[in-house]
Amino acid sequence: MGDADLNKDRLELALEAAGLDLWENDLITGEVTLKASKTFVELGFSEEEIASDLQGIYGLFHPDDLDKVKKAVDDHLSGRTPQYRCEFRLRSKGGEWVWYANYGRIMDGKSSTPGKRLIGVTFNIDDRKRREDEIEQINRQLTEQNALLQQLNAALALLAANDSLTGLSNRRTLMELGLNECRRAQRFGHPLSVLVVDIDLFKAVNDGWGHLAGDRVICAVAQACRARTRQGVDTVARYGGEEFVLVLPETDTPDALRLAESLRGAVAALQVVVNGTGGTACVTVSIGVATLRQGGDRSFEDLVNQADKALYQAKETGRNNVQCCAAH
Ligand code: GH3
Ligand code: MG
Ligand code: MG
Repeated sequence: MGDADLNKDRLELALEAAGLDLWENDLITGEVTLKASKTFVELGFSEEEIASDLQGIYGLFHPDDLDKVKKAVDDHLSGRTPQYRCEFRLRSKGGEWVWYANYGRIMDGKSSTPGKRLIGVTFNIDDRKRREDEIEQINRQLTEQNALLQQLNAALALLAANDSLTGLSNRRTLMELGLNECRRAQRFGHPLSVLVVDIDLFKAVNDGWGHLAGDRVICAVAQACRARTRQGVDTVARYGGEEFVLVLPETDTPDALRLAESLRGAVAALQVVVNGTGGTACVTVSIGVATLRQGGDRSFEDLVNQADKALYQAKETGRNNVQCCAAH
């Protein structure tokens, strides 16, 4: 056996062990000078069916991959890339797409007719590609699920923090925010005012117009509170059935009283449509005001209790009025 034969045997063994299929093309004539038989047999073709020209071979490439493959050949032929490499799908005889990769090199780049000998190997990368696709799909699903979970969390946080009828902060949120505002007021020496607003003789609304009508009145008063407060600064909460608490940072007693009086007047002027036939209900509110003065050290709970006492006075004084109780 000559050296050449030995080398050829060794090469074949190495290629086989590595799962590589050797081929050679003449880019000038478009002829396949050595066929990648293993690949095409794997794809279900018989030896005779394997095309012996490049056009025939290109006919088996996935239409979405063909331009990429031709560009990779061109890039290498013109010296822009040191090797020809690309990944692509080939159509099996049964019509299925299978992923392969090519790795090759122009062997006669320095000759007068470069491209007569493009030698390369083809190898199957279908498993890897499928795994990559699966991972990509799983990642996409995970991203979608995460987005959904985030939306759900935001919705849950909103539900947990707000009253479902009016959308105002609920009692729990009020206590949290109020505590913080109280600490902030004490730290920076600002005044802090609290209003407790209660609808007068609300039972009569429920009794006269029904519970749903009562709900509409509650919403209308909630809206009146919201409309008179600073968004992002003040806190408006539904404290109980028809009772609201407003927390007004950096607001002293005269300002709080002015706001309370304006709110009282606005509610008294409301005509709340309470049924489908245009029936309207009129209500009034009583308001208790308490202020944590500059330098005061009352707790938020104390402040709310003080405002509640003032509210009781307002009820005692005949309702539809504002009373104040200065806290220290
Ligand atoms: P006052 O002037 O002394 O406050 O008299 P009032 O009738 O408003 O008395 P009170 O505050 O004790 O009554 C509150 C009523 O509010 C009792 C309850 O049936 C009603 N209520 C509580 N929550 C709701 C609600 O979510 N919707 C409706 N429609 N009614 C509610
Ligand atoms: Mg009431
Ligand atoms: Mg009440």
